[in-house]
Amino acid sequence: MKIGFIGLGNMGAAIAPNLVKAGHEVAVWNRSPEKADSLVAIGARRAATPYEAGQAEAVFTMLADDAAVESVLESLLSGLPAGGLHISLSTISVALADRLSEAHAARGQHFVSAPVFGRPPVAAEGKLFIAAAGSEAALARALPLLEIIGQTVRVFGDTPSAANLVKLTGNFLIVNVTEALGEAMALVAKGGVDKADLLEFLTSTLFSAPIYRNYGALIVAERFEPAGFAAGLAAKDMRLAAEAAQALEVPMPLNALLRERLSRLVEGGEGHLDLTALSLLAMRDAHLK
Ligand code: NAP
Repeated sequence: MKIGFIGLGNMGAAIAPNLVKAGHEVAVWNRSPEKADSLVAIGARRAATPYEAGQAEAVFTMLADDAAVESVLESLLSGLPAGGLHISLSTISVALADRLSEAHAARGQHFVSAPVFGRPPVAAEGKLFIAAAGSEAALARALPLLEIIGQTVRVFGDTPSAANLVKLTGNFLIVNVTEALGEAMALVAKGGVDKADLLEFLTSTLFSAPIYRNYGALIVAERFEPAGFAAGLAAKDMRLAAEAAQALEVPMPLNALLRERLSRLVEGGEGHLDLTALSLLAMRDAHLK
């Protein structure tokens, strides 16, 4: 199939090769053009504009945030032919997903929201967990493509933005767990217990989920660079979760706390560090750093 792929950051650069390897004809575009080089080297075509990448049966976007998606939107909308499909993988707001649905429908185009769970190494293996939503016709075309890049694709109905709400909810839980792990590690470390021992014990007993194992290992190793999932992006996600909660009139007091912790990192010039650098704050607050 003729596919466009817009956005070759940490995630896009890991996902797009799987579409090329599956035999699709992939045209790639990224704002910083040099990030397309490795894709071109394995057989993708370099698109000069989002318009050109959009001239396809299906176009993926994997961009940082709402502003990034909005910056390519007009170009993408005019490149994608009527009947064409846009699959949005980015973590964007519920409100923008609703606007995208309307904009594509007005041009006779299809839209599926399919935000993903999993860090870049998971993406590179084609093992993302994907929440998808869209019309039955759009999903029928999107699912075979999503199954190339993900190990699980769960459909959440025919309103695309429902998938974004699921994604923001999941990230709210991920950031909660990260903050809690950071505080827990600081507590045991100050009390003289080895952090790695605590993690091994907890994750082999009550807390055996990947989120505890993987994020916990990063916290123990104090390896925050290069970021797999940057704190700045997590701050954006908590803001989007708060906006969705406000629109639905759902109080989320923990969300406010997490935004305050993340903004300390971002405002201190550490937003480029991995989300697990939240544990640095807990260590510093405990005078361990
Ligand atoms: P990233 O490495 O920061 O890449 C961001 C991408 O967006 C780059 O291609 C960047 O282009 C582009 N971009 C940013 N602002 C732009 C603008 N104004 N106009 C055009 N392009 C712009 O981020 P990522 O980790 O790949 O994340 C991408 C999305 O996936 C985000 O929504 C994130 O929340 C979500 N996500 C991330 C993870 C993870 O673990 N990293 C997991 C699941 C979901 P340049 O290269 O030119 O800067």
